[in-house]
Amino acid sequence: MQKKESHNTICSYCGVGCGITVNKDNNGALSVVGDDEYPVNKGMLCSKGKNLNYVAQDTSDRILHPEMKWSRNHPLQRVTWDIAFKRAAAVFKSIINNYGPDSVGFYVSGQCLTEEYYLANKLTKGFIGTNNIDTNSRLCMSSAVVGYKKAVGEDAVPISYDDIELADCFLIAGANPAWCHPILFRRLEKHKENNPKVKVLVVDPRKTQTCTLADLHLQILPGTDVVLFNAIARWLIERKKIDTSFIKKYTSNFEACKQSAFSLTLKEAAKHCGITVEEIKKAAKIIGSAKRFISMWTMGLNQSVIGVDKNVSLLNISLLTGQIGKPGCGPFSLTGQPNAMGGREVGGMASLLAAHRDLNNANHRNEVQEFWGGKPIKKEAGLTATEMFDALDSEKLKAIWIICTNPVVSMPNARKVEAALKKANFVVVQDISHNSETTKYADILLPAAGWLEKEGTMTNSERRISYLPKVIDPPGEARPDAEILWRFAQEMGYSGFDYTSASEVYDEYCLMTKGTNIDISGLSYERLKNEGSFQWPVPHKTHKGTPRLFQDQTYFTMNGRAHFNAPKQIYNQSERTNAEYPLILNTGRIRDQWHTRTKTGKVKRLLTHIPTPYLEMNKVDTYLNKLNEGDIAVVTSRRGSVRVKVKINLDIREKVVFMPMHWGKILNSDFSRANNLTNNLVDPISKEPDFKYCAVRVEKYIKP
Ligand code: SF4
Repeated sequence: MQKKESHNTICSYCGVGCGITVNKDNNGALSVVGDDEYPVNKGMLCSKGKNLNYVAQDTSDRILHPEMKWSRNHPLQRVTWDIAFKRAAAVFKSIINNYGPDSVGFYVSGQCLTEEYYLANKLTKGFIGTNNIDTNSRLCMSSAVVGYKKAVGEDAVPISYDDIELADCFLIAGANPAWCHPILFRRLEKHKENNPKVKVLVVDPRKTQTCTLADLHLQILPGTDVVLFNAIARWLIERKKIDTSFIKKYTSNFEACKQSAFSLTLKEAAKHCGITVEEIKKAAKIIGSAKRFISMWTMGLNQSVIGVDKNVSLLNISLLTGQIGKPGCGPFSLTGQPNAMGGREVGGMASLLAAHRDLNNANHRNEVQEFWGGKPIKKEAGLTATEMFDALDSEKLKAIWIICTNPVVSMPNARKVEAALKKANFVVVQDISHNSETTKYADILLPAAGWLEKEGTMTNSERRISYLPKVIDPPGEARPDAEILWRFAQEMGYSGFDYTSASEVYDEYCLMTKGTNIDISGLSYERLKNEGSFQWPVPHKTHKGTPRLFQDQTYFTMNGRAHFNAPKQIYNQSERTNAEYPLILNTGRIRDQWHTRTKTGKVKRLLTHIPTPYLEMNKVDTYLNKLNEGDIAVVTSRRGSVRVKVKINLDIREKVVFMPMHWGKILNSDFSRANNLTNNLVDPISKEPDFKYCAVRVEKYIKP
């Protein structure tokens, strides 16, 4: 390929946030390679990242023009941007006038850029006057957000990827980085290859690809993580494998953690978790003897009705051993989406405020209001993701604006979501592609520019902020999400939205962070373009960024100490199995697909790995249910059913089945949508759904 132009940017998929180089030849054709200079991946890319050029260049499914239904029962028709904005603003104004600001809501995405997230928040919380803005990050990271706040005072991931190469012990819990964070896993794999004494412990009810690296796989029963972490804590305390000096000097509430840890004997804990006492002791001994210990976790802990408890009980282990704020150690949540972290920084959830300010703090609310010059910020948290669709269903919420996400496939109990969208008075969908099943519910459909077609910033799992340049023009009349938001705000008559570029939005947000713990007032677009990526905080113009937090052992809590938390529930609170629904369904991701496949589903090469949805079952369960490999099974929960091919897996536990969450409707049926089955239970604090546990039965499909 004759190279004409070359741009460095960031992969648009997972929260690892790999650097890529996009080359454009004289004919405009794109190719993608890993960026050798980028500190995260040093030239490596996984299968999804390597095939990004196909996604960027295929415009066959793109939404090219604004479309609008003139009334509910009419089809979408092409309109001008002007008409679309006028109508959207008129309907929003009318609903707000009639029912108040809490009758509208915005549902956004961890794939939005930071500038877009910031603007959506400013518009909603600062000017419309409701905190009803939430994000699909609620579905993946909100339990970790609460866990960090409780333990270290703010939603602050303490460490860097570079700490991986310094650590000698890893506990990977409820995560399969080999498939879901592949480049990070590759770094870990290399580190262990070079240092065979490095120990890896994996906690997972499933034996995943990640277990190939495990010195010990604790294949616990689903939902028993808290009991396991408490048992490990108990052993560490009993055997005096804790850092008492660290605990005394830098932490508070140790006794509560101890009391919780001692609530069960190791024997009771082992029985509850479905593993042996020896396995618990072995894991605890490895952690207790580690010089530098890192815990890594993601959806297996977060997506749970006791997600916060799972988080705090794991965080307790880092505090007990004093393994935080030092090289090669610390707790490390792995973010699912490319900019879930950036969204959390700008307050992109119903329960957050910009720059880690606290919605409960009147001074913080006043600061934000003063800065924006808008309406007083409401104290009460707005509707979270699941609450928003429940409120549409009960007709308390009248209008919803959905940006860059596909809730019809990704939300739990998806049929209820469809019913709620049908009931809504007004639905705006802003997206790049007709592939999203949610677009069909739109009263107004707005064409957004995709990754590579706009500029902005993102923050990856290690707090690294990177600049993404505009590389190609968007197709048709598609516009950057930030521009769509500021033009809508202008149409609504709000002041303070007269931006002309994303960089103006970014500069405003940077100013807002001044003096906070995530201060990036020293980080301009110019610096990002010229000097590369930075880890926050970056509080002045010559500051080099902060690879590791809490090195001085001062935490973001009120008393400056890290805080032990006793889990409120040690036992799982998910729905129960019974004779009618005897199996536990776990849902999750596969290696080569991303979210609801609106992008990866278009790439033929990625379909060669696993082309169709499947149900993973233990051989004993297939035998008991009269099923064989390749049979079509009907899986039924208390919410609905799906039809899917059976795949026998000798390594999955008996009475546990697994189904990927990516597929929506195949051949115009919804029989492969895993979220037909999942339930409405959420963690009571983080409001994250219980995607990893619902009761189902499985039967052979008999053709009528
Ligand atoms: Fe992209 Fe994640 Fe793969 Fe890196 S590991 S190339 S960020 S999908």
